[in-house]
Parts: sequence; structure tokens; C-alpha cells
Amino acid sequence: MKEIINFEAVYKKVAKLLVDLKQCVVLTGAGISAESGIPTFRSQGGLWEKYDPAVYASIEVFRKDPSKYWILRGDFIRNYDHYQPNTAHLALAELEQMGIVQCVITQNIDGLHKKVGSKDVVEIHGSLREIYCLACGKEYRAPHVPYGTPPCCSCGGVLKPNTVLYGEQLPMKALMKAQEVSARCKAMLLVGTSAVVQPAASLPFMAKQNGAQIIEINIEKAFPDANYFMMEKAGTVLPKIVAEIKIIR
Ligand SMILES: [Zn+2]
Repeated sequence: MKEIINFEAVYKKVAKLLVDLKQCVVLTGAGISAESGIPTFRSQGGLWEKYDPAVYASIEVFRKDPSKYWILRGDFIRNYDHYQPNTAHLALAELEQMGIVQCVITQNIDGLHKKVGSKDVVEIHGSLREIYCLACGKEYRAPHVPYGTPPCCSCGGVLKPNTVLYGEQLPMKALMKAQEVSARCKAMLLVGTSAVVQPAASLPFMAKQNGAQIIEINIEKAFPDANYFMMEKAGTVLPKIVAEIKIIR
């Protein structure tokens, strides 16, 4: 494998490849949203250094005392409108409009891909955008949640965002779709994901097995078998790839 990490040397090649292959599936992780100021979990200085996920993000604890979870996530949800997609999210939405990106699979729960207008988005860990009453099912939308920690529904029930907590099953339909499109794509773009958390971690292997070209954009290399690796922020690389595609197609 020829590894080129300087993206200036390789982004034009990748643009040409995407135009030729199309059928590109994207897998995104926390790295793409870090550029929008979204707090990360696993990285250095991430939320899990301060908050133990086994306490603050487990379904078992949530059922006993949902206030722990709301202490961690309440501010983000109430400031939901404040967080905006960045140039990387926008570039992926443009690539979808161009007929190159088929589907964006994201591990992020911030909803930024949908906010920027990407249509086919698989949120495998759910989204903070949708909040449900566990008692009556009434839906609230971030940032419009009632006051209180934890906030309660008008019926008095506990509210929980539609995200996957530790100890919960992943949404089966989303997971099956992610696997299906990964196994069939001709190119897979890995953007800002360390791809260590299952089941997302297995998706690039499924794509690779089926002969797809793997293109990784990341500040640290995570996928050893990538055909192309660009060590740079996605918000820098992706708009350049889009601009190049507009020239050559
Ligand atoms: Zn209710």
C-alpha cells in the first residue's frame, strides 16, 4: 500500500477516484464535529476523562436516576441550536447532491449531518435532536425541553433522548442498513473516526472485503488498510475535494 499523508499531494487523485467510482459511503465520527466545537468523548480532554460513562451514560443508572445523564447532556441539548455544521458536513452534503455519496453513516449524536441537509443519514447511535417521554411517548425536540434536572414531560414522565446509552441495543434497522450499504459500496470515506467502537469498526472491513477503496481523513491514522490517508482536518480537506470535483466532472 502506498501511503501518502500530505493531502495536497493526494486530494486530486481522490477527487478523480470518487467521480469514477461514485457509490461512496461515508463513516463519520467525533473528529468531524470537533471542528464545530462539539465536546468529544474518548479523545484527550474528552468528556469521559471527567465523567465516568458507566455512571453518566448507562441505561441502568438512567433508569434509577436520570438526573446524572441530564447533568452531563442537559447543557448541550438546551444549546442545540448554537452548534452548527462546519465545512466538512457541508462538503459531504454537496457530494450527496452530486450523486457521489450515497449514504452517511455516523457515530455522532449531534444531528449535524441532517442539520446541513444530508438526506440519507444513518445515525447508528441515535440523535440528541429527538427526545421522548418514557411514559407517554410524547416527542420533544432539542433545544425545547422543559426545565428541571431531569426534565419531565407534561405528564410527569421522564424524558430521554433517542440515543443509545451503554447497555442498550443499537437500533437494528439503522445497523442493518449501515452494514448493507458498507458491503456494497465502491468507495468508503472514513472521516474523523477512530473506528475502534463496534459495530462501526467492522464497517470498513466489510467494505474492503468487497473490494471498495478506503479513503481516510483523520488527524491520526486509525484504519491500517486504507488505500489513501490524508492527515488533516476534514473541514480543510473535504471542501478542496468538492472544489476539484466541480472542475473535473
Ligand atoms: Zn409524557
